[in-house]
Amino acid sequence: MSNPDQIQRFVFDNAQVRGVITGIQESYAEVLSRDSYPRPVQILLGELLAACALFSTILKFEGRLSIQARTEGALKMIQAECNHQADLRAIARWEGEISDDDSAISLLQQGGQMAITIEPEQGQRYQGVVALEGDTLAACLQEYFNRSEQLPTRIHLSANGIDAAGMMLQVLPESAESSQQDEDCWNRLDHLVATLSDEELLGLDNETVLTRLFHEEEVRVFPVQDLRFHCDCSRERCGSALVSLAREELEEILSEQPVLEVSCQFCNERYEFDRSDIEVLFNPGAIAGDNQQIH
Ligand SMILES: [Zn+2]
Repeated sequence: MSNPDQIQRFVFDNAQVRGVITGIQESYAEVLSRDSYPRPVQILLGELLAACALFSTILKFEGRLSIQARTEGALKMIQAECNHQADLRAIARWEGEISDDDSAISLLQQGGQMAITIEPEQGQRYQGVVALEGDTLAACLQEYFNRSEQLPTRIHLSANGIDAAGMMLQVLPESAESSQQDEDCWNRLDHLVATLSDEELLGLDNETVLTRLFHEEEVRVFPVQDLRFHCDCSRERCGSALVSLAREELEEILSEQPVLEVSCQFCNERYEFDRSDIEVLFNPGAIAGDNQQIH
């Protein structure tokens, strides 16, 4: 496959086009080991991991990019994330039967809603809605960039339950804005990537794929970047998720048990909160005073 658990960027200087290729193996196995996912969900998780890895290379700041979807069908939710350090994580939840014969995209198209969220560590969160009208997840995401971001983009994603891989080609935003883009160049590169098969993307290393596709082009390849499965959950983030729930509900649970146990859905790490922790979460300013009542 394209180099496993690595991301590699490349650029066609003459054509003002950037590219990225990724292969995901160990981190994919880690994600799949968390549950016994039906096969189409495994495929979708692999494709989403590959997509997040590809898109993380266009983050201009420290933060994370996630793709999440909810549907009215058996697939209740699916989410994959990658941060600027190429830490990947993903999860899915489903209810009822999902047949091995279902296509990955058909799971999403049962009243599904998908969004790409970008969360900088500093600054505003951004969310874009992905229309689920394409024949594949790659086609839907590609259309998102073409339509919403006005950036000519070609995306190829592939996963088989063991390996996942992806390639993306995209016109550089600067050149798209200044209309300096050479359309013929883009069309030629776009057609070349369209000839790439799943077997090639999953079966060949980066160098072979890039040589096979672009041997007549001037392509500048950047050093590879390693990616890994890593959950960056923390007590703090877990706490801020609790604050979004109704306080009465949490108090009620705590009237029946001494601590509230929250486990991370991505990695199963457990965090405990007692009554005074909840007080601090909902009322960060008033810590000491209230707790020092005279009995
Ligand atoms: Zn976690």
